[in-house]
Amino acid sequence: MADEVQRVFVASVVEEGGNSLALGCFSSEETAWQVLRNFLKKSELMVLVSSTVVVWDIDVIGENGVNVLSTMECKDCPVCGRRTFWMDLENFSALCHGDACAAWVEESTLEPGIIDCGWPPIRFLKQAQDIEEAFSELFKLGDQMKAISKVDSLGEHEPQQMLDAFRKKSALGSKD
Ligand SMILES: [Zn+2]
Repeated sequence: MADEVQRVFVASVVEEGGNSLALGCFSSEETAWQVLRNFLKKSELMVLVSSTVVVWDIDVIGENGVNVLSTMECKDCPVCGRRTFWMDLENFSALCHGDACAAWVEESTLEPGIIDCGWPPIRFLKQAQDIEEAFSELFKLGDQMKAISKVDSLGEHEPQQMLDAFRKKSALGSKD
C-alpha cells in the first residue's frame, strides 16, 4: 500500500487567450511547486495570465477528488515592468520572477493587516496600510528607477543590469 500513489499534484499555467499548458503531474506538492517556479522564471517570454497547483485524489469520482491548492495571477511588475509579477490572491503575496528583480508584496507576518513590500536589488523595504499603498510604493520606485540616469549611486553589478533593463523597458513605454 505504501508504494501506491493516493494523490497527485498537478501544476499548470494559462496563456492569454485561454490556452492551458500542463506542466506535469507529480507525487509531491514540493515537486509541483519547484517545476512551477522554474517555469515562471521564463514567464516573460510568453503571455501568461494565471497558474494553478491542484491536488487530485486517485479513484474519487467527481469534483470531490480535486482541491485547488494555489491560484496565482500574472501581472506587469510595478518595478521592472515585465510580465513576470505573480500574485497569490488567497494568502496575499506577490513576487516578480524576472531576472534581477524580485519585487515583492506580502502581508506582514508580525502585524496582521499591515502590508510589506520590497525590492531586493537596492534593499528597499517599506510597510503600507493596505495593498493599494504597497503597490503605489512599488510603482513609485519603478518610476524613480526609470528616471535615474546615473547608476554610480547604486554601486553594484546587478542593479546596473537592472537599470539597463529598465531603460529598454521604459523606452518601449510599457506603462504610461
Ligand atoms: Zn520585476
